[in-house]
Amino acid sequence: MVPIFDLHADVLMDLVRRDEAFSKSHNADRRPAPELEERHLSRMRAGGVAGAALADCRMAGEPAGPEHLESFIAVARRELAAAWPGAVTVLRAADLRGAMSSGAFAAVVCCEGLSATLGDIGWLWRLYGEAGLRVASLTHNDDNPFGCGALGSGGGLTEKGREALAAMNRLGILVDMAHAGAATRRDILAASSRPVMLSHTSCAAVYDNGRNLSDEALRDIADAGGLVGCMTSPAALAPAGDRANHSLERYMEHLNHMIGAAGVEHVGLGLHFCEYLYTREEYPLVSGLEDASRAQAIIDALLASGYSQNEVEKIAWRNFARVFEDAAG
Ligand SMILES: [Zn+2]
Repeated sequence: MVPIFDLHADVLMDLVRRDEAFSKSHNADRRPAPELEERHLSRMRAGGVAGAALADCRMAGEPAGPEHLESFIAVARRELAAAWPGAVTVLRAADLRGAMSSGAFAAVVCCEGLSATLGDIGWLWRLYGEAGLRVASLTHNDDNPFGCGALGSGGGLTEKGREALAAMNRLGILVDMAHAGAATRRDILAASSRPVMLSHTSCAAVYDNGRNLSDEALRDIADAGGLVGCMTSPAALAPAGDRANHSLERYMEHLNHMIGAAGVEHVGLGLHFCEYLYTREEYPLVSGLEDASRAQAIIDALLASGYSQNEVEKIAWRNFARVFEDAAG
């Protein structure tokens, strides 16, 4: 097996939602035991996913405020403490490299969209220090005090967004541009003092769903020393009615195209499996890539199509390790 670092798994979103649902309906003193290992890591390990950016997310349009960030900090701390030493919280690139070679799961804490801060940049320091936050995106698909999302009004970073970006560069939080609008992406690339990532997308040249990236946009991120991740979500691969192309084969078309556009040094696997969050009607399964336990099929397909072992390891995790070191130290 070639170990994989998944650039985006909505695992903390799942666990925070379960915790919030429990808090609403039960006595918080009888909170269930931590469940990161049994609910997520066992399946990921089965597919050779040896580490991941574990994201919490407030989706576009969902209400979000500081109380949500308090839950996020509490759940991340409790779950990662309970999973240690089988899972290590990655605070620096050395932790990541150590975990990937030792067999401990490399957990990078990620916050997708910082809307819940309500624009208060002081939260970045708390999230960095208390939750171990090391990857974050400023926006989800909607606009917020930091900037415009992919389905927002079309503007770029706000002044507050520029301050938040500078704070992330200074602290050592890798900036994820997933869900940022095109102008926000351009502003981030121009203003960031460190390389950035766009953790989960696919290629508009293969299927243009309105959020997949053009070849030019992929190259812009690569030219800035960054990383783009190829995602498995059915909505990124093909139209909803085109079930035949919700498949591993179509995923490989997107991934191969992405490697051609951005270069083998600048592509990773932003798998974004989230079958555990939705019903099958909302989120139809992708044949051959039903969940994280099938992730090695991507490695097998890359090796079969002629990439060297060294190139496959770069795509699987080493490119992320390089960009993470540039951004987080
Ligand atoms: Zn996302």
